[in-house]
Order: sequence, then structure tokens, then C-alpha cells
Amino acid sequence: MANWADTQKLGDSSTAEWQKANLVEITSSNGQTWQVYKDAAPAFTGFLQELEATGYLPKSSGGYNYRPIRGGTKLSQHAFGNAIDIGAAANAMGSHATDMPSGVSDIAAKYGLEWGGNWKRPDPMHFEWTGNGAGQPAASAPNSFAGIPQQPPQNALAQVQQPEYKTTQLDPRAFMTPQNQLALLRISRG
Ligand SMILES: [Zn+2]
Repeated sequence: MANWADTQKLGDSSTAEWQKANLVEITSSNGQTWQVYKDAAPAFTGFLQELEATGYLPKSSGGYNYRPIRGGTKLSQHAFGNAIDIGAAANAMGSHATDMPSGVSDIAAKYGLEWGGNWKRPDPMHFEWTGNGAGQPAASAPNSFAGIPQQPPQNALAQVQQPEYKTTQLDPRAFMTPQNQLALLRISRG
């Protein structure tokens, strides 16, 4: 797991100034909101969309929260907006009990997110962005455009009906007079 909280590369995330510059609010289709680190937002948003596509209704149990890890002194990834909690009531820390769909771990991984449900001390409500260093997409992310997986065409028919714009490589010499061509020849020969 990337350890952003220890790198301190993101600065003092406790200040209102930091929050204003670095946090954005993301919203799921069912209207739940989380405050997250801006660079992690596309990953969380993509993950939530795919999670909801399984029929799961995410309930926000918090994103950004300036606090240490529960039972520890190090800052939690929540203190940087790099983690979100979903459905705390049904996904309690310390228990493997979860109401998440069975493929949730794989869906999360696709967006460079670690699922706390896989941890030795399980935390199935918890999804954490695995950025390597400030603002960098996760090295382990399957897609280098972290959090923005390639989408299949929404509507294949609509695509077919769109006019085709072809680009054709034209030889500029086709528009030139013989004099210009001669000049080009001189230029190209230095
Ligand atoms: Zn959490």
C-alpha cells in the first residue's frame, strides 16, 4: 500500500487552505457525497459508477477526515482525502462481514484502489487510492490513465450514423508550382 501519509509530500492537510486547494466533492448516482483528494477523484468516481452498476447502493460513511489511523498515531489516508468509506454499518472494521458485491475487490483494483476488506485487519467499508507519490497515478493501476478506463461506445448505432471525417495525408508539393518545388528542394538540401 502506498503510504502517502508518511511521505508528507502533500503538505499539512489540516488547514482550511489545504482543503480548499486539494479537495473536491464527488457524488454517486444515488446522491451520496464524499470529499476526496482532487487527483484521486476520477478513480473514486469511476469505481463508484461501476459499483453502482452491479446494483449496489453506496452509502457515504466519509472521505476526507483529518484524523490518525484508528488505534494508531500515523495519519490515516482519510486525512488526505485518499480514502473513502462506504456503508459503515454493514461493513464494520475488524470484521469480514460485508454487503459489497463479490467482485468488489477486482473493481476497486481496476481503479487503483485497495479494498480494506482484503487486509489482515479487515476494513471492508474502506477504499484507498494507491498513488505513488503526490499526484501520481498508481503504478499498479491497469490503466495508465488512472481511474479513467476506456469505455466501450455508449451507442454503436449512433456512432455509425455519425458522418465520417477522414484525414488524408496530402503531399504539399501537389499545391506547389515548379518554382516552389525547386525552392523546397534547395531548402531540404540545406
Ligand atoms: Zn476508511
